[in-house]
Amino acid sequence: EQLANQIAAGEVVERPSSVVKELVENAVDAGGSTIDITIEEGGLTLIRVVDNGSGIEDDDMKLAFFRHATSKLKSSKDLFRIASLGFRGEALPSIAAVAKVECISSTETSGLGKRLAIEGGTITAYEEANTPQGTDITVRDLFYNTPARLKYMKSIQTEIGHIADYVNRLALAHPGIAFTLKHNGSLLLRTLGSGERLQTFAAVYGSSAAKAMLPVEGEHPDYDLRGYVSKPELTRANRNGITVIVNGRYIRSFIVNQAILQAFHTLLPINRFPLAVLELGMHPSLLDVNVHPSKMEVRFSKEPELRQFIEESIGKVLGRQRH
Ligand code: ADP
Ligand code: MG
Repeated sequence: EQLANQIAAGEVVERPSSVVKELVENAVDAGGSTIDITIEEGGLTLIRVVDNGSGIEDDDMKLAFFRHATSKLKSSKDLFRIASLGFRGEALPSIAAVAKVECISSTETSGLGKRLAIEGGTITAYEEANTPQGTDITVRDLFYNTPARLKYMKSIQTEIGHIADYVNRLALAHPGIAFTLKHNGSLLLRTLGSGERLQTFAAVYGSSAAKAMLPVEGEHPDYDLRGYVSKPELTRANRNGITVIVNGRYIRSFIVNQAILQAFHTLLPINRFPLAVLELGMHPSLLDVNVHPSKMEVRFSKEPELRQFIEESIGKVLGRQRH
């Protein structure tokens, strides 16, 4: 069991940003309005995620740290219409197998809850705790018991770079949640959670970038598209400024990126890329998100139609710019 968890950990927990991703996605799923993330030393010594969401029921807390304890998948059919971000129940056991984890959670507004501590997969404490409604998870000394993995970590700057990139995109995907991200005591991101995507965009990229964005809106029998792309004057040297959200989930999609870039074709000099934050909605049966455990990759069932729809929707706003 412990070995199985360490093997699964290799898939789910590649580096500190994978831990942040899993914890923050759980926090989003929990439905609260604030998520505060504290990181020390690129996440290798400390990752803490505090949310004010539903909290974890007393009976479920220990269970959550064992394999396949997901509360989010009711039947195998659900795999094809996933509304919540997590659905595999592998994240917490995997993290607990390769770090020292403390989880404090309460489902009660009264603040009566539980504190669970786990080291390398073994429970070291389980007791009553007074804590506000929500969940507070701290992960210390990541990979302390898997030195081979620890050796693969890059510099602290590289690791916090991955974390910040991920949190920025998740904040863009959830403008209604107020996020903070702190690293070694300094504040890297604060979003207001107003629900206004352009305001979140300004928190991530700055207010002058936000002013140079054009609203995109597209409708199609199978899809809808909302968001912003930059005016062709505002370009970047790489495509990291493109954020794609599908049914509320931040994803990576070569197909969608290609469609966006195609819309900018002839407008941008070679090797220049737009900024974009686009939210695509579609019936869940039209996509398969179970491609990789990290759940960032998806497959679409009608790629050519989707591509054309995105390209045309963006093309319309850019076309208006030209006249
Ligand atoms: P999954 O997200 O795939 O269900 P995880 O291993 O990430 O699996 O989490 C296991 C379970 O623990 C979740 O299904 C959920 O019930 C509970 N859980 C984890 N984090 C939180 C949180 N921040 N708030 C409320 N419940 C949580
Ligand atoms: Mg999860």
